Amino acid sequence: MDFNLSKEHLMVQKMVRDFVQKEVGPIIKEYDRKQEMAPFILPRMAELGILGINIPVRYGGQGFDYIALGLVCEELEAMDSTLRVVMSVHMGLNSMAILQWGTEAQKQKFLAPQARGEKYACFGLTEPNAGSDVAAMTSTARRDGDEYILNGEKMWISLATKAHNALIVARTHETEDPHDGLTAFLMEMDRPGIKTGDIHGKLGVRAGSTGWISMTDVRIPVENRLGEEGEGFKIAMSCLDNGRYTVGAGATGLIRASLEASVNYSHERKTFGREIGRHQLMQQKIAHMVRDYEMARLLYLRAGWMKNMGMRNTKETSLCKWFATDASFEAANQAIQIHGAYGYSDEYEVERYLRNSRGAILYEGTSEIHQLMQGGYALGYRKDGALRCELPAYDEDFWNNEA
Ligand SMILES: Cc1cc2nc3c(=O)[nH]c(=O)nc-3n(C[C@H](O)[C@H](O)[C@H](O)COP(=O)(O)OP(=O)(O)OC[C@H]3O[C@@H](n4cnc5c(N)ncnc54)[C@H](O)[C@@H]3O)c2cc1C
Repeated sequence: MDFNLSKEHLMVQKMVRDFVQKEVGPIIKEYDRKQEMAPFILPRMAELGILGINIPVRYGGQGFDYIALGLVCEELEAMDSTLRVVMSVHMGLNSMAILQWGTEAQKQKFLAPQARGEKYACFGLTEPNAGSDVAAMTSTARRDGDEYILNGEKMWISLATKAHNALIVARTHETEDPHDGLTAFLMEMDRPGIKTGDIHGKLGVRAGSTGWISMTDVRIPVENRLGEEGEGFKIAMSCLDNGRYTVGAGATGLIRASLEASVNYSHERKTFGREIGRHQLMQQKIAHMVRDYEMARLLYLRAGWMKNMGMRNTKETSLCKWFATDASFEAANQAIQIHGAYGYSDEYEVERYLRNSRGAILYEGTSEIHQLMQGGYALGYRKDGALRCELPAYDEDFWNNEA
């Protein structure tokens, strides 16, 4: 086992760190207050190659491996969770699913412009009455000759109003087990019958974009179907294996941000004649953050390594996501405690960290769902079978060869 990051990894890490510190840091508070995404964020991420970081060069990407994706997410979320959310949906939940399940034509048509950052992508699984219980969804896709006609509502969709393309899961047929009747589609968001809107008044990720998608008789050609009819649930779950990886790696960055803010403040603030860092109870909080940062980091690096090797990593990625997101909420909460009343105001960053950390305990599997998964694996109730299409293992030659 080699714990060193490669030259390439360090380069990617530095590039993203410079971007967020120089360009996002100065404006993030303003946009968080305005509850808007800064207009330059997506084009700039595209320009820097971030939106295609781990996609093979032949499909418009930068040709780095899956660990580079984790490092990118850690750096993005160390600044603001909204930046990492972009990677979770555009890359983890959409582009990587096309890499895994798409036909060559779909890779050229959808993946390549997404990886080049010319098009942004989102993921529509959740509905007003179906979140954790995916099979309760009521969106339908009826086959009509060479097309499908989609109807339904998707809710809580990150980048709903910004994305050009969406990966949508809808019911194509009634089956005894409702999971078997779901099918995945690649849907261009400018098709007639699609409406979108933003959700305001969120607790966190306020400088991001979360919204809804309404579909009324939206016609999609058969060639936009991802996988086979009835594979939608499996595809959605494999999307989550990748999305959860980005969430776990990002939450690791949020723990780090809380830790750094807490260390700085502990040196600045004095009570009873000494730095608050000298009080043992303050040290204990910081020690917990150090522990959780290191553990979360190891968990995501292991999951990334397994992806590089082409190993199934549903269990390991779930553990990473569950642990890192719970720990990031706790770290942000304790960071506020360390900052005292100042932590309660947006003069300091830590109140935003707390608000931003909360959503990740809900999306991409609530913490309860991850506990059920981990308990199920340990008890032998849950096993992962092979998929018809696995996420391809990282192959440096293939990834960096133009054709
Ligand atoms: C900021 C944000 C961004 C999001 N982005 C997206 C996106 O881009 N695309 C998308 O498709 N979705 C997105 N979501 C939706 C998210 O994935 C869902 O909110 C999540 O899956 C939980 O579903 P729910 O909110 O319907 O809660 P429910 O499923 O209704 O759960 C309610 C509560 O019941 C618990 N519960 C449910 N079932 C069980 C069980 N079997 N055992 C024990 N407890 C249980 C849950 O853990 C939770 O505490 C986003 C959500 C947020 C907040």
